Amino acid sequence: MRIAVPRERAPRESRVALVPESVAKLIKAGSTVVVEHDAGLAAGFPDAQYTAAGAAIAPDIAATVAASDLVCQVAPPEAGEVSQIPEGGAIVAYWQPGGSADVLTAIVARRIRMLALERVPRITRAQSMDVLSSQATVAGYKAVLLGASALPKMLPMLTTAAGTLAPARVFVIGAGVAGLQAIATARRLGAVVSAFDVRTAAQEQIQSLGATPLKIDLGGDAEGTGGYAKAQSEDQARLTQEGIAKHIAGVDLVVTTAAIPGRRAPILITASAVRGMKTGSVIVDLAAETGGNCELTKAGETVDAGGVQVIGPLGLASTAAFHASQMLSRNILTFVTHITKDAALNIDASDEITGAMLVKP
Ligand code: NAD
Repeated sequence: MRIAVPRERAPRESRVALVPESVAKLIKAGSTVVVEHDAGLAAGFPDAQYTAAGAAIAPDIAATVAASDLVCQVAPPEAGEVSQIPEGGAIVAYWQPGGSADVLTAIVARRIRMLALERVPRITRAQSMDVLSSQATVAGYKAVLLGASALPKMLPMLTTAAGTLAPARVFVIGAGVAGLQAIATARRLGAVVSAFDVRTAAQEQIQSLGATPLKIDLGGDAEGTGGYAKAQSEDQARLTQEGIAKHIAGVDLVVTTAAIPGRRAPILITASAVRGMKTGSVIVDLAAETGGNCELTKAGETVDAGGVQVIGPLGLASTAAFHASQMLSRNILTFVTHITKDAALNIDASDEITGAMLVKP
């Protein structure tokens, strides 16, 4: 099987789909790997490391994907690229955001199978292939660092000859994968951390990381299927917004990560709640990509709301591209192994994992 790794061309994308360590494993398992020149450079993996792992380096995208059975990349493929991939091949990449109907038509016309990384089912068997989890881990960590550097304060309590400094107060909304990592990171930096999630199971996880759960009585658990949260009723949403508004008036940094699968992110911080925050406070809205948890968030921008900075970062995982690629690559390696049989591609649409990831017109 011939596997191609193109250089990423999307703006803000510094990751690479396969790092040299995974390439070496694929080659050991019987594949040939062709990596486009400088594909890993932005993530800290120069061509020489791929060559040492046994890969061939190709000068451009056409030479990289020519004769490939499988293309592994991060960003969704573009139409020009699809026309260069051999008919009947396969692509493993994110399909959203960015996958377009035109590209899908081109893929179907060339009988290429598109396997969307973000569609990996959240089941135990697929945990090691779960890019949502691995990349959310990086984003949660980075969100705290971003917020900490935007704050006019330091996070830890310090006792110095110039007096004692109180620790900063950090509040994390949504205690899923990103939120729990944000809590852990803020705690390591010495902040006093509180957190809120609508799922009852999250309370224990918040506490186990040394944070205090914010309790808002919403009349029961909001856990839906697969460990995800259910959307709130209008009353519950109002109670949540009110409870959060009251709490964040005394907080320095808010990191918000709340999401409902397949829907716009819920608005949990209203403009009026932001007005109630202290001057100099910061909100880092990790849900910016799906509409934002704060009413004032603008994706990809930092809004100054009367002295409160509302940061809506995009592509945070890519800002720690070395480790993000390392984890992404291990996820992809496990998935590629899953769709390989006797050293050849074996895409079984009836398989629970593969079937869920296949993009259909
Ligand atoms: P997510 O990105 O969909 O959402 C982030 C968090 O926001 C969730 O914890 C959710 O409960 C919370 N949330 C939603 N609406 C909210 C609201 N109105 N107010 C406050 N919080 C709100 O979730 P995720 O990080 O992908 O993980 C969600 C769950 O899935 C967790 O229980 C996690 O352990 C589980 N999970 C399972 C697997 C697996 O089995 N393979 C993999 C990853 C995650």
